[in-house]
Amino acid sequence: MEPKEKIILTGDRPTGRLHIGHYVGSLRRRVELQNSGLYDKIFVFEADAQALTDNIENPEKVRQNVIEVALDYLACGLDPAKSTLFIQSQIPELCELSFYYMDLVTVSRLQRNPTVKTEIQMRGFGGESIPVGFFTYPISQAADITAFKATTVPVGEDQEPMLEQCREIVRRFNHIYGDTLVEPNILLPENAACLRLPGTDGKAKMSKSLGNCIYLSDSADEVNRKVKTMFTDPTHLQVSDPGHLEGNTVFTYLDAFCSDEQVARHTAGTYATLQEMKDHYTRGGLGDMKCKRLLMEVLQETLEPIRMRRAVYEKDIPAVYEILKKGCEVAREAAAATMDEVRRAMKINYFDDRALIEEQSRKFAAK
Ligand code: ATP
Ligand code: MG
Repeated sequence: MEPKEKIILTGDRPTGRLHIGHYVGSLRRRVELQNSGLYDKIFVFEADAQALTDNIENPEKVRQNVIEVALDYLACGLDPAKSTLFIQSQIPELCELSFYYMDLVTVSRLQRNPTVKTEIQMRGFGGESIPVGFFTYPISQAADITAFKATTVPVGEDQEPMLEQCREIVRRFNHIYGDTLVEPNILLPENAACLRLPGTDGKAKMSKSLGNCIYLSDSADEVNRKVKTMFTDPTHLQVSDPGHLEGNTVFTYLDAFCSDEQVARHTAGTYATLQEMKDHYTRGGLGDMKCKRLLMEVLQETLEPIRMRRAVYEKDIPAVYEILKKGCEVAREAAAATMDEVRRAMKINYFDDRALIEEQSRKFAAK
């Protein structure tokens, strides 16, 4: 269906505090889009029901992290006056939609989803021991997106297969039941380093589940300590040795966080651009510690205002819950309106369909 409005939807699992991978992959972009004034509606949600699919025996973890993620959202500049912040489990229409979408997706299609494959491996769900809810989470994600008629979904690269799956569901639904749902577009970070920020250990993805994160709410000391022990170039033993940038996490983070202006300012003009610094590193003669020092300063510059805003919201937790509660009310209304349209399209709106009742009355009267 041709969208009438420009609508953003995106979210995170409340399985831990948010980290700098979330920030560059999606959060920073959301705040920019929110403040651009170019969108009619912005929905940002905590996927607690999805988090329970692989934490079913650990509900307390999810419960405790709902507030942590809400604090991270507000700290990063998501503004409840401009964005609707809500919690997935409080919107029952999302379960309802997922239930019907399940009929539009095959088991083999889900098995082909590369992100689900990796995540199943990461969680050690061997053989057939995957919880059905976890296996089918791409379907529930399609419900989250389409319930709000989202046109734009700003996420990291790992979400590409989910968006593709969602678009397929929309096309199939509209083909069978008539034009009802809106096909969303993925909005990936423009900067390649931000598509999938690696962990501090150099592993492929910074992820709560892998314990290789710098959290947005880490103290300045914690951030510095984590940067000091970060993975760089294992062949760069002496300062004079030529260094390699490929797979060098410090430089990936600099690419993600550091502008040329910051390089010039923090190195007192030794380098005018990040490229000049990289050239020195690859030539040899530039030590890892100097690069890490720049990264620490740049990260602190980004994280300090976030930390300060978080501290303000931490002082009034009931107000944060109030923001989420109001958000849930707004979100529920939007999802219920879509659900009405879906029921009509799927012909399960028996009581609203006067024509059906009248027609059947005539049919039975004529018997
Ligand atoms: P979990 O381990 O519980 O799955 P996670 O750290 O992978 O947690 P999610 O809540 O699954 O985080 O992801 C939320 C959003 O952040 C998604 O849009 C995802 O693409 C993005 N994201 C997560 N990790 C990264 C990363 N390392 N680089 C870029 N974007 C990321
Ligand atoms: Mg994840």
